Amino acid sequence: MHIQKFEDAMKACRFCFMCRHLSAVGNVTFSESDTPRGRALLLDKVSMNPEFLRSEAVVSTMYQSDLSACCRFHCVSHYDENGLVLAARRDIVEAGAAPENVGKLAAELGKSAAFKVSGKKADTIYFIDRYTARQPEISGAFDKIAKAAKVPYMTITGGCLGKALKTLGFENEAKKAASAFAKALAASGAKVVVVSNPAAYDALKNDCPALGIKLKCKVMHTSEFIAGKLAGLKLRKPAGKASAVYYLESDFLRNYNEVAAPREALTRCGFKLLPFGTNNEESYSAGEGACVLPELNPGLVKLLAEKVASRCDDAKKDTLVTASPYTKHVLTKYAGLKVKTIEEMVSSLL
Ligand code: SF4
Repeated sequence: MHIQKFEDAMKACRFCFMCRHLSAVGNVTFSESDTPRGRALLLDKVSMNPEFLRSEAVVSTMYQSDLSACCRFHCVSHYDENGLVLAARRDIVEAGAAPENVGKLAAELGKSAAFKVSGKKADTIYFIDRYTARQPEISGAFDKIAKAAKVPYMTITGGCLGKALKTLGFENEAKKAASAFAKALAASGAKVVVVSNPAAYDALKNDCPALGIKLKCKVMHTSEFIAGKLAGLKLRKPAGKASAVYYLESDFLRNYNEVAAPREALTRCGFKLLPFGTNNEESYSAGEGACVLPELNPGLVKLLAEKVASRCDDAKKDTLVTASPYTKHVLTKYAGLKVKTIEEMVSSLL
């Protein structure tokens, strides 16, 4: 079983309470099974009795994890409790025990993996994933910034490039989707691929090499692209109250990749980043790490979004900034919060 590769985390986490307050799902379900300790205890039992993997308790708990990797990131020993859950999902799928809705969603995601490149030949290509496509103001803002920076670019559109499939435990299908994306990228001749969605960033940076897929181009999140172009952009300084914003960290950028570019770009533009909530360790992404939690459990995502709203100083007036089109979408939809992406904040100064 794949969970055996994470035996050290299983053994360490099952008796540890240290990071339970950082488990976003546990904080809204108030259930100990939704913490790294609870999940490790369940999987430790699976390692002794493999049949237990198929139990409702294990399957539902694994599929309602938000996979923020927050606990791993802040764990003093960095035990990979997040990798353990992903391995458990893979074991569940390979045992044929995935819930029906998960299997159906994976089949749809697999079918969506067809990619189209548009625009005049250029060195840069911009990936418009499904959350960015749903909120055209994000790609519109990127376009404004790229034009101001005099960077011509092509676009690549399509469905799942493998990330959601991988988080669901469908490794082979994830590899197929990622290969289709890599093939389309290679055919485009692009040297740099820029993505707004941190999930896509992690897929290209980490999943592709792990799946044995080599990319020929450099991968950048839009915040890294923007930070690299700021010196050449003529930007107004943000004025008055509009200059004070709350930046909500992306799970994939901070906890998976330690990318600091979003804060750097916003600060260099003149925004004052206010502290959000009670600490800077929790995940306020409302399930970004799980990619497709709204499709599987919209009620849970609503609870996560409402929890973020409850941490606002003034939920009606605060401007929240995110590097994640997913987080913007769910916080707006489920909690009515005012959320902008990095692209929108920077383009508003042009
Ligand atoms: S990730 Fe670290 S802090 Fe969290 S339960 Fe495991 S050992 Fe404890």
